[in-house]
Amino acid sequence: MSRARDAGLSASLCILSLGDVKEADAAARVRGLWPDVRFSIGIHPHNAGQFEGRLGEIGSALRQATADWSAVAIGEIGLDYHYDFSPRPIQQAVFRQQLTLALELALPVVIHTREATEDTFAILREAGPVRGVFHCFTGDLAMAQAALEIGFYISLAGIVTFPRAESLREVAAFVPADKLLIETDSPYLAPVPYRGKRNEPAYVGRVAETIAALRGVTAAELRARTAQNFDALFLANCFPSNGLAR
Ligand SMILES: [Zn+2]
Repeated sequence: MSRARDAGLSASLCILSLGDVKEADAAARVRGLWPDVRFSIGIHPHNAGQFEGRLGEIGSALRQATADWSAVAIGEIGLDYHYDFSPRPIQQAVFRQQLTLALELALPVVIHTREATEDTFAILREAGPVRGVFHCFTGDLAMAQAALEIGFYISLAGIVTFPRAESLREVAAFVPADKLLIETDSPYLAPVPYRGKRNEPAYVGRVAETIAALRGVTAAELRARTAQNFDALFLANCFPSNGLAR
């Protein structure tokens, strides 16, 4: 946390998995030490299988959890067909249920999607005017366009600094300034030159520098802009009056 502050971070979004007691303990310590940390909580597709036969419990459990953590978002939620840790129909049902709750609570969602683009968009479109972000985006330009069409933000992590991430750098240059977010996805995916080490919030500066260079702006401008976008998405807690392109 002190390294993050030294690197100029004013706040951070910490992602929790519903029902993970160990993670909740760690997060409570972070909250005690870093008052500006914000939380998002949800049922990750990896854990969706735990709710097989208990779908009806999700609403009240998540409602309670978002209140306990003063959560600014519901997530990570979505679909992961790469690992398939949970059966796909259950992943889909748990995802749908959480989108319904996000709409009810007027909270944005943090989307995790891997090798499940088509189903993710189909479920998001049928869910209605939900707002949110595709976290750790690794898709191509077409997918970025589809995300923007449903009003979503696109968040890029350290992968954008990897030598072979050419198509992601195209996305980084393409996303409109008011829809771009940056993240670390700690403790995974540390950016160059920290690859292979444990990732941490302080390293988000490397993501900012890389993307700023691609977009021909200064890192300071990019940081200011993405901070503003963060506030607009997570702290506004209301639907945009201009409506979404659906
Ligand atoms: Zn994820």
